[in-house]
Amino acid sequence: MKTAAAYIRVSDERQDEYSPDSQLKLINDFAKKNGYYVPEEYVFYDDGISAKTAKKRPEFNRMIALAKEKNNPFEAILVWKFSRFARNQEESIVYKNILRKKGVQVISISEPIIDSPFGELIERIIEWMDEYYLINLSTEVKRGMLEKASRGEAMCAPAIGYDLVDKKYIPNAQAIYVQQIFNDYLNGIPMRQIAIKYTAAGLTTRKGNPLESRTIQYMLYNPLYIGKIRWSTGDKTFAKTRKFDDPSILTVDGEHEPIIDLDTWNAVQEKLKKQKQLYGRYQRAGQPYEWMLKGLLRCGNCGATLVKSNELYVQCHQYVKGRDCKVSHSISIKKVDEIIIEALQDCIKNCSFNIEPIEKKSTVSVDYAAMIKKEEIKLERAKEAYLAGIDTVEEYKANKAVISKAIADIEKQRTQTVSEQIDIAAYSKKVEEVLKVVTNPEESTEAKNQALRSILTKVVFNKPSKTFSLFFYY
Ligand SMILES: [Zn+2]
Repeated sequence: MKTAAAYIRVSDERQDEYSPDSQLKLINDFAKKNGYYVPEEYVFYDDGISAKTAKKRPEFNRMIALAKEKNNPFEAILVWKFSRFARNQEESIVYKNILRKKGVQVISISEPIIDSPFGELIERIIEWMDEYYLINLSTEVKRGMLEKASRGEAMCAPAIGYDLVDKKYIPNAQAIYVQQIFNDYLNGIPMRQIAIKYTAAGLTTRKGNPLESRTIQYMLYNPLYIGKIRWSTGDKTFAKTRKFDDPSILTVDGEHEPIIDLDTWNAVQEKLKKQKQLYGRYQRAGQPYEWMLKGLLRCGNCGATLVKSNELYVQCHQYVKGRDCKVSHSISIKKVDEIIIEALQDCIKNCSFNIEPIEKKSTVSVDYAAMIKKEEIKLERAKEAYLAGIDTVEEYKANKAVISKAIADIEKQRTQTVSEQIDIAAYSKKVEEVLKVVTNPEESTEAKNQALRSILTKVVFNKPSKTFSLFFYY
């Protein structure tokens, strides 16, 4: 039996409808017949003081909130008529969509969808229509927001340094930190250091997370701080794309008090631009220098992967983000490449590989004996068929040849597998092949990376002790 909620609403505009009690009775009858159970606590009732928005339907909102919960308590919402559920097309579509995503069906007990292939088709068409309306609706919403933005009204949750009071941004106690952050950046303090400094001072992102370099970058680019409202006419937010010079950006004068003066702002923008140009030059120089140990090199302190911190250096990912790791593992790509090549040469020379016992992909052991046995039975049958006069001698010979070859193949496979398990010399050869690829200037960095990945699970770099540990796999 499935649990369902019942939603009841009466409208005072209509004379011909059932009372709340009658609606509930009809719903309960339907539930009983169709395998639903409606607990008392999931009967939601709003009286119909012809409210125009969902805000005036407290029980409806409570029901939707419950349905949106992770373990939503009911699988369906039963209503007497769809018009009780929603008061207009848009409302119906929006809420049905929310519910559908949660696996909750809205069922009208008096307007059942016809139970036939056509019924299904009709349902599908209704869904398409719903989607069409939703797209239209979101365009409307976007237009409304653009209009708001162009009037300089607050658009979204406030940035660090502001509170949102009565739809207006008001500078708060953290505004002084924002000013300090802009100054720190101008004084040449790296974004990472700034992030750590102000996290220590108690500043967090809106979600309460520690600041990261990207948070600082985002702040430095945010024109909200000079009293402007920024809005993108595109689909994606800046927080995602970071394309601050996107042509779809709309900046207008806001109505709020600036935190940063124009001189400071311009100086910061100038500096950001220079840094970007510096980075851009590397990009123009040709293919980006992807490095051959990408994804294989780990931080000896926290175990995180090392990533490129700029064009020439790699660094612990957690350290770059200014988060958990406090031990810098910065090293130049050129240097680490040389060290690993040397290390591989040493391993070959000494015939010593730190092979990690890792589980092989096919752990299913093949029962060769059983496979051979099967073939032998086939051979036996073929012989019987010949002796009983069913097969001719030619047929028997042909059968025998096929089966004998199958047995020989299985035997061959069996011996190969056995010898593979302990051949260090062969493994050494394999590493040599990899080394050939890695040291060949003609090979692409990607090919080198692939080659290394065919023998190594990881390389752990411990900067304080200046050691590298290579982990091979078989
Ligand atoms: Zn680390």
